[in-house]
Amino acid sequence: MTLRARLAVAFLAVVLGPVLLGAGFVAATVGTVTNNRANERLDLAATGVRTTMNALCQRLRTAAQAAATLGGAADPAAVERVVDQPLASGVQLVDPRGEVVYTVGTPPAKPWADCADADAGDAFAGICAHVALVDADGHALGDVYAVEPVDQSLAQRLAAATGAAVTVLGGDGAWSTERGSDRDRVARVADTLRAGAVGETGSGRWVRRVARGEGQPLPLALSVGGEQPRALYAVLAAVVALTGLLSLAAAWWLARSTARPLTELSRAVDRMAAGDLGVRVPVRTGDEVGRLAATFNRMARETQDYLRALTVSRDQLRRHLGLLGDTLSSTHDVNRILEVILESALSATGAKAGVLLLADPTSGVLIGRCADGLDGRGPGGGPLRIEDLRVLLGEGLLGAVAASGEARRGLVERDGPRLAAGEPRCRTYVAVPFAAAGPDGVAGPTGGLSAAAADAVQGFESPAPARGVLALYDRHGFDEFDDADMVTLRTFAGQAAVALDNVRVHREAQRLSLTDPLTGLSNYRYLKDSLRREVERASRFGHQLAVLALDLDHFKDVNDTYGHAAGDAVLAEFARRIRVEIREVDLAFRQGGEEFVVLLPETDAAGGAVVAERLGAAIRRTPVLVRSARTGNPRRIPVTVSIGIAVYPDHGTTGAAVLEAADDALYQAKSGGRDGFRVARTRGDGPAPDAELAGAAVAAGGPQTVPIGSVGSPGPPTDVTTEP
Ligand code: GH3
Ligand code: MG
Ligand code: MG
Repeated sequence: MTLRARLAVAFLAVVLGPVLLGAGFVAATVGTVTNNRANERLDLAATGVRTTMNALCQRLRTAAQAAATLGGAADPAAVERVVDQPLASGVQLVDPRGEVVYTVGTPPAKPWADCADADAGDAFAGICAHVALVDADGHALGDVYAVEPVDQSLAQRLAAATGAAVTVLGGDGAWSTERGSDRDRVARVADTLRAGAVGETGSGRWVRRVARGEGQPLPLALSVGGEQPRALYAVLAAVVALTGLLSLAAAWWLARSTARPLTELSRAVDRMAAGDLGVRVPVRTGDEVGRLAATFNRMARETQDYLRALTVSRDQLRRHLGLLGDTLSSTHDVNRILEVILESALSATGAKAGVLLLADPTSGVLIGRCADGLDGRGPGGGPLRIEDLRVLLGEGLLGAVAASGEARRGLVERDGPRLAAGEPRCRTYVAVPFAAAGPDGVAGPTGGLSAAAADAVQGFESPAPARGVLALYDRHGFDEFDDADMVTLRTFAGQAAVALDNVRVHREAQRLSLTDPLTGLSNYRYLKDSLRREVERASRFGHQLAVLALDLDHFKDVNDTYGHAAGDAVLAEFARRIRVEIREVDLAFRQGGEEFVVLLPETDAAGGAVVAERLGAAIRRTPVLVRSARTGNPRRIPVTVSIGIAVYPDHGTTGAAVLEAADDALYQAKSGGRDGFRVARTRGDGPAPDAELAGAAVAAGGPQTVPIGSVGSPGPPTDVTTEP
């Protein structure tokens, strides 16, 4: 059963029920009142009938008396006067034997109802009263009867006297003031009634049977119209019918107007459940149902907008994740990786601003590495530059998260903490820590690969794991960040950590591939790069660049005498002494075997000679102390080195050319007797004379030759343990 049908039925029941009840009550009341009135009228009429009949009997008795007195048994002519009065229609004298002596007037045919004897018979043509006639001696002469006919005129007289219709019962019921078919009906009903009782004919006539008795011997029925208020009933029925019709119409209208919006609403909800978010329902009224419809429309609209925004942000997130994947797999640029991670995190959570800070491993200060949306988030609502984004560990939100290692989210006003001066202003936040082995600490925004590698070849130690913080502020649309955002952000922080770790590993590998494992100096591969780069730099700034080629003397003998392990120890110690002797900007390489190269930026031949002299002295002065792995006995191994010097741009216009010139000079130094240095010949020179070679450091003004094969006074031996 539909809601509309139920509403209609309920309305009809509520409206029609009382109407029908009321109508029934009115009808019953009217019926009772009518009944009572008919009874009253019949009572009254019965009294009237008895009175009239009594009077009639009285008159007949008087007539009989008079006839007996005037005429007696012998003088009918005197009796005639009685009939003429007229006190009776006829008078008859009957002798004791029952023979009619005489008849005066026109008495009706027998039988007659006797006024003195009400119980005899029930069909009468006349009504009589009689007196006994006796002679002077008291002998009975007979009875004198005074008779009146029972006819229509009697019925009419009775009716006129009572105000009710009168029917004489018995016989064929021919005497009645009732009309037509009511005559028979009244007679039939009266036959079933006791005397004095009231009945109804079914045609609206109320009937009363009049009791017979002394003075009223006739079986009579009185009848009155029930005065049934047929018009009233008709009006009542019409009112009920009209009310019914109106109720039907009202119920239909009410059910329709109430159920229709609900039907529309339920259809709309069905469509929405099926995925149609564009569905709207008409708002027809301002009542509860109307408000429900308006609310539904608003809900549908907002859901649609939300879905649209979700779709957009999903697409955006997809793009960002793609970009993130590409970036992570294709670059080792730490800043680029951090930027993309921050962008992805912003896009994934819908935050308005975000920052990513890494802790400086030495000072512990958190330093901003990338940021987005910082406008208006500085102190006093001004802009906040990334350079100013510095927070002490433990200070403010970012410092607390980095120090505790626990992620936080919340509303600043409600959950705190007090923001530090150097961190962005915000209303809501979510911040997660991440631990990563920083590839270059906070070397600064340039942190590119080559600089790191340059650090590496300078013996840069891998930094301690850096702590960092990824934080987002103030979400678009929705107020607070939730746990899902925190999980998302953790994922991104994890990715950042992994990416940074990857970069670190990559750089370590890079460093190792460019480093000679025995001496820790850069290897030949890196020499070529460095040489090219330093030549470029020298050329750009108009500087000179000295290149020293070094080769240990008779190193084969060291191996042969002390073993290969001792040779290795000597090589490592030599490399260490080189590092000690050169400046920070100078670069040292192991070219291979016992051959080394040193680059001296912004240095001319004289400066190169000074360094060569110093290096030669450093290895010559102190024999390398090597402990025998087998016996454990220390041994001093005297070592010398020969050095060739060439200078850019004097001896070559390219790095390779200058290095070749240095090698030539080295060869000269070797052939000149070893344990000394030679400066390459300037381009266009002829073969270098020994004197020139020996006096290479002319400009330096120092000793021009180093005694070949001379060994300086040995200093304290350096303790080196050979590998087993
Ligand atoms: P010269 O004075 O002419 O340079 O004589 P030299 O013996 O030093 O020259 P040569 O080129 O004949 O010998 C170089 C030797 O260096 C040969 C090799 O055994 C040794 N050598 C090369 N690399 C290593 C190394 O890594 N470790 C050790 N222990 N020896 C090496
Ligand atoms: Mg050699
Ligand atoms: Mg050698």
